[in-house]
Amino acid sequence: MSTSIPYLDEHWSVVGGCSKCSPGCDHCWAEAVTRQRLAPQFPERYADLVGPDGWTGAVRCFEERLGQPARWRRPRVVGVGFMGDLFHEQVPDAFISQVFGAMEIHAQHTYLTLTKRHYTCGVLLDNYVLPHRLLALRMPHVWIGFTCCNQSEVDSLSCLLNSEPLWRHVFPHVWLSLEPLLEPVVLPAALLQRGGWVVAGSEAGAGRRSVGVDPFYALMRQCRDAHVPFYLKQWEVGNRVESIPVPKWAETPWGGQ
Ligand code: SF4
Repeated sequence: MSTSIPYLDEHWSVVGGCSKCSPGCDHCWAEAVTRQRLAPQFPERYADLVGPDGWTGAVRCFEERLGQPARWRRPRVVGVGFMGDLFHEQVPDAFISQVFGAMEIHAQHTYLTLTKRHYTCGVLLDNYVLPHRLLALRMPHVWIGFTCCNQSEVDSLSCLLNSEPLWRHVFPHVWLSLEPLLEPVVLPAALLQRGGWVVAGSEAGAGRRSVGVDPFYALMRQCRDAHVPFYLKQWEVGNRVESIPVPKWAETPWGGQ
């Protein structure tokens, strides 16, 4: 699936549907796209995932898409399951293993996973890397992503990263999506000290909660001091949301935008 997310070449839509678990979910982009575009176009796949009040709580795993990375010829930067949450409690562990198995095999691409369910993700990744054959394996082409909207979520992520989880031996790269950012945050030392990548953005769309521009300057300074790439996706100035407002703050670990 093509994508409007500027730092991705491709969106690998392996799951659909979700349920809200954070203040950052209030104006869920995936929910809006599913309701307005995907459900009317592909009712057999998406219609039961959303209703007039938003997500129904149903989640669907698209097994037929597991082979897509094999068909992309040139290496791509791929967002994994951004139309839901791969680590949602209704996604079977076996399916998550299949997704990681496909990423293991098709290592020519760079994959970005992303979840709001930090703890579940940590447990499942530990289970994934536990089998002995994987302990010698490293998958630096898979960036494990966590999304947070406020300091309390960042702090819970810090606890996870501070515990030096087993999975980091296999997945050394972690990225953090602070979108929508709802308040100023101090980034986790465990992320800054070991490299990583930070993406941030204000909330966009109707009913958006403005945070101003100062928290983004503060994030940029924290990243600069730690030599961590920083990507500012959008912020709100006055009443207007500006996309990639500062081109030199659109950094990616692999160069380019
Ligand atoms: S976790 Fe992500 S996809 Fe799920 S409701 Fe929240 S913002 Fe939407």
